[in-house]
Amino acid sequence: MRTDVIIVGGGIGGLTLALALGQAGIAARVFEAARDIMPLGVGINVLPHGTRELFRLDLASELERVAVETREAVFFNRFGQLIYREPLGRAAGYRWPQLSLHRGDLHMVLLDAVRGRLGADAVRCGWTCVGFEQDGDAATAHFRASVTGEALPSQRAAILVGCDGIHSVIRRQLHPGEGEPRHSGVTMWRGVTRWPPFLSGASMVRAGWLSCGKMVIYPIRDAIDTQGRQLVNWVAEIEAGRDQTRDWTRRGNLEDFVGRFEDWHFDWLDVPAFIRAADLVLEYPMVDQDPLPWWTTGRVTLLGDAAHPMVPRGSNGAGQAILDARALADALATHGDATEALGAYEDVRREATARVVRMNRDNPPDAILREVFVRTGDKPFARIDDVIGRDELEAISNAYQRVAGYDRESLGVLDSEGRS
Ligand SMILES: Cc1cc2nc3c(=O)[nH]c(=O)nc-3n(C[C@H](O)[C@H](O)[C@H](O)COP(=O)(O)OP(=O)(O)OC[C@H]3O[C@@H](n4cnc5c(N)ncnc54)[C@H](O)[C@@H]3O)c2cc1C
Repeated sequence: MRTDVIIVGGGIGGLTLALALGQAGIAARVFEAARDIMPLGVGINVLPHGTRELFRLDLASELERVAVETREAVFFNRFGQLIYREPLGRAAGYRWPQLSLHRGDLHMVLLDAVRGRLGADAVRCGWTCVGFEQDGDAATAHFRASVTGEALPSQRAAILVGCDGIHSVIRRQLHPGEGEPRHSGVTMWRGVTRWPPFLSGASMVRAGWLSCGKMVIYPIRDAIDTQGRQLVNWVAEIEAGRDQTRDWTRRGNLEDFVGRFEDWHFDWLDVPAFIRAADLVLEYPMVDQDPLPWWTTGRVTLLGDAAHPMVPRGSNGAGQAILDARALADALATHGDATEALGAYEDVRREATARVVRMNRDNPPDAILREVFVRTGDKPFARIDDVIGRDELEAISNAYQRVAGYDRESLGVLDSEGRS
């Protein structure tokens, strides 16, 4: 063993890091505040650069069993007129798929793998980290029991990584003077509905625009019942001055937003009926934080949402946490000195993720919808080519892929014969 690592937070990033470290022969222990890890949340996407890393961790068959392999992105205006369609993942020639899945399914695949490979004790639940200190030899994390609040034994290791999400205590200790989260003014209502397959059965739909009401809709589980229905994830995004508290589990109310979509009756989906049939509705503000000037001090660093919370407009939150985990494990495996390794990790990932944070604010893939909304004055069009050319639409999509790191040049694509 070269070194050992304390991981604070057993979410998507923390568990992926534990697996990547395990693969590199580096000891890791995960401390998670939740009393039990439950399959929480709704839909999440992992793009080809993220699935590449998860497949390198030998999770392909488990993930493909629970996920929908997304084949295309489709953009409509709020009148149901098709703006743009492009293939995704393997359908676009990538060697790795784009997977749409329930966050809980992804979380459970990661948790089972960590416990199976690193041992049942590798993840301790009910341990809330309350801070850390460090000296020349090690970092020490301090904990309280999540349920009773009583102090638990402090834990010491060569490295400590804060993977503790949007309310990270490690980030707060590193940057106590950081400003408030940045509110975009948009509220998201997120939910899941059991529904028959629509369009290709593996389409990621974006429709409308934020000021009039925008929907993102994609299936996340196939064939969930005898009628062949899918579990379909949806997000309604509306400019609305509402509660900005960041709580992933806050319940939402249908009547607060469904009115915006009342006349969205498309031939492939009756949107208001689909929303009203939801099993679950959650409300969450579209909030991020300005990129940090540094993540690392000595033996302590940040990863995932703790390092770079971003607005979820490019399907990249989980993927960037997964890429962080790979970069950190590689750095620790190749640098003899632990603090040098953390510096190398930050060099590779901090500016790269800051660019994604900024791109998600200004020009995420749904900038396509904004352009059409503005140019048509929110009116139906006669021909999309009169509004915006195919080249321009492709340029918006390609620019995002380049910044997020899954463009065809970076990842490579296969030819029609399946050769790379
Ligand atoms: C309950 C929940 C539901 C979510 N639902 C969705 C969703 O539906 N769709 C979506 O796109 N994204 C969702 N996310 C966010 C998504 O998982 C992340 O944006 C992304 O995957 C990056 O992962 P992460 O590991 O950095 O953060 P997260 O996956 O948020 O993991 C952070 C982990 O740290 C733990 N933690 C926090 N504070 C402490 C502490 N002091 N001590 C120890 N552990 C701590 C948290 O309990 C959590 O398990 C959800 C997150 C959570 C926690």
